[in-house]
Amino acid sequence: MLKNVEFSVNETDYFKVNYGPENEINKTHQLRSVVKAVDQGQISRESYRKLAAVEANLPRENSVSNERIAITDNMNQFIKILLVDMNGKDKLEEASGSDESEFRNPEITQEAVDIMGIGIYRSIKDILNYIIPHLKEKKVLRLSDPTIHLRISGDGRNVGRKIKHVMVTFMILNHKERHHHADYHYTTILYPGTENYNTLEFILKPFLNELRLLKENGLEVAGILWNFELYFSSDWKFLVICLGLNGPTSKYFCPWCSCSKHQHGDLSKDWRIEKNMEQITARYKDVNGHIHPSLINMIAIDHIIFDELYVLLRITDRLWELVLAEIKERDLFNDLTRKVIMKEMQRLKVSFCFWENKESHNWEYTSLMGDDKEKVLRFFNLKLLFRPSRAQLIRNLWDQFYQIYCAIRDNTTDPGQLKIQALDWLSLFLKPSQGDPNDPRTFIQGLYLPSHVTPYIHALVYHGWELLEKHKKWGLKAFSCSAVKKKNYNQVSTFFRKTLKNGGNPLKRKSAIQEIIEYENRTLYFTYNPLPESKKIKKLRIK
Ligand SMILES: [Zn+2]
Repeated sequence: MLKNVEFSVNETDYFKVNYGPENEINKTHQLRSVVKAVDQGQISRESYRKLAAVEANLPRENSVSNERIAITDNMNQFIKILLVDMNGKDKLEEASGSDESEFRNPEITQEAVDIMGIGIYRSIKDILNYIIPHLKEKKVLRLSDPTIHLRISGDGRNVGRKIKHVMVTFMILNHKERHHHADYHYTTILYPGTENYNTLEFILKPFLNELRLLKENGLEVAGILWNFELYFSSDWKFLVICLGLNGPTSKYFCPWCSCSKHQHGDLSKDWRIEKNMEQITARYKDVNGHIHPSLINMIAIDHIIFDELYVLLRITDRLWELVLAEIKERDLFNDLTRKVIMKEMQRLKVSFCFWENKESHNWEYTSLMGDDKEKVLRFFNLKLLFRPSRAQLIRNLWDQFYQIYCAIRDNTTDPGQLKIQALDWLSLFLKPSQGDPNDPRTFIQGLYLPSHVTPYIHALVYHGWELLEKHKKWGLKAFSCSAVKKKNYNQVSTFFRKTLKNGGNPLKRKSAIQEIIEYENRTLYFTYNPLPESKKIKKLRIK
């Protein structure tokens, strides 16, 4: 018997047990609506108890709690949660400790330290068995085109010095309207620890086996044999680890081609997507830059798509660094300049400041957040820092980069046009100086050096147009990792603190990652079993 058939029988039984006459059904709906609201609003048991005490129409806290447990237990039967013992597999000293954590909360770090050595795994097959019948019913998946386009992503977020909360997710690209919704990026793996090859190789093993089988054999659900086309998208770090490739500063850095970092200045080269996963799998040592076997060898190289958001963020960082470096080079990085920059940031409503590192005496500054970067890139008045012609040159470079960024996000962009536009932009970035530097009358200062070109710049310029051409069906925006990053951030900030707050005996309580994955199972339940709007729930007015 197919698993999905079992599933519908169980589901009906579950409802039969809980559903009685009509007002009983309403009551159950109301209770589940409350469980959903409490879950999504992250309302603690204590807070809910207080709410229920002042509003008699709300169900009692213990019935909410029991219903929550019932839904959790029921879902955990469909989608099993496996704890993975990672002890001895993950060594903290291998991690690079340079990245700074966004979380300065010691509770969060403590929780991560406490549960180091345990990972969690939800089978992708279980999740697919659960959601495919729903997606078929909603006509997101169709009998006429039984190919499911699966996008895999991974993300590691610092939760303390050297410790990361690492998650691996997948989403169904066919579900077009949900590409950017965190609830539709389904978590399969979670662990607090380090983001490195050995750890990922160990924890990803069962997941990658499942992916391979899905690709080779398909999956039979709801009486249909579904085929799978696999894609991968993540930030640079996670991608190169999974590919077994050297880091971004090494000689051969590119996931798609064999460009070396010494060739950034050669504008006559036409770098194309030329690597081939079969070759890498057969003999990775023969492919420049590859130091380990590829973990994601079931995904084609041209199905690995960069994260367009990271292209914006990282290239903007580089452009901003280069501006500050130029000011420093001219010895103009003084109190007055710093004041001018901070005032301009204030005008743009971007929180930004400089401070002097007491030990190194270097000036440090706030690293800009996502939306702020876009604001600075588009609107920062460079004339405050440079003479008009120089300011205009840099402004042109910034504006043209922003235009390319918008173009790669737009499905109607002509890839051929984008290629020309991107190469023109790189030529401008590398514009050489002209004339004699000692003679101000003849000297025209150029822009930047080939060594300033970053892997992201190379990827955008040479591979952006080709990836756009190949994946026009979805558009490159469909491969943005912002929903996954948001999910990771929310999970850490909510659950790593909450488990400690709800506390009790630390040996008996569930770890944050267990709480997270059970929450994800309940979210699946609520997402795919929408509750009717209950008219009986009175609206609470909070004054
Ligand atoms: Zn390349």
